[in-house]
Amino acid sequence: MHLIIFGAPGVGKGTQAKIISKILMLKHISTGDILREEIKKNSEVGLKAKSYTEKGELVPDDIMGEMVKHAISSPEAANGFILDGYPRSVNQVNILNKILNELGISDIQIITLDADEEVLVERLTSRRQCSNCQSIVNLKSIEGENVCPVCGKENTLVKRKDDEEYVIRNRFQVYKETTKPVLDEYKNEYPILKITATKSIEEVTEDILQKISKQN
Ligand code: AMP
Repeated sequence: MHLIIFGAPGVGKGTQAKIISKILMLKHISTGDILREEIKKNSEVGLKAKSYTEKGELVPDDIMGEMVKHAISSPEAANGFILDGYPRSVNQVNILNKILNELGISDIQIITLDADEEVLVERLTSRRQCSNCQSIVNLKSIEGENVCPVCGKENTLVKRKDDEEYVIRNRFQVYKETTKPVLDEYKNEYPILKITATKSIEEVTEDILQKISKQN
């Protein structure tokens, strides 16, 4: 099974992709997570990508294309994948089509998560990421101390640099102008499963699983 999860910043793509990948035993490929790892390691790719991610701009297509090709063709993706954060532009759709053609993959399903922009801005300003297990946590849902509710480590919850409000606004602008048109490219090609993302995490997961199973 090959899934692409799509939606505005903060809509819960990463959270849902992580859960769904475990349930369906798919490789979770998050281009944002891969980039954050590379930046942390100060690798060549990380050094090139850093200035873009900090401003909420898109990292150049050649860097992203190589990264995605490598991830999709890795042995861990042999059972399928859920792609999170890619493609983010019409040009990336074309690059991905080429990669998928080369690998003979055509059973793609697109999951779109929908929510109101202001709800998402509010969510993003209060979200933190665990530097140990990479889980995304909302400060409003945990009590007091800086302890990751997923892995239990202390002092690991950090605000992503691109979760400052002015960067968030820029990410929405990029999403509306460059990323949303991706859906039009796919609407006649692959099934698009529309999901309302303002319910609880568990309910959204349930909705996704139900819609996926209806397709198969
Ligand atoms: P995310 O965690 O998916 O919100 O990604 C964080 C940041 O990484 C984005 O704001 C971009 O700067 C960069 N990024 C992630 N995926 C892509 C992509 N497909 N193309 C270009 N830049 C990306």
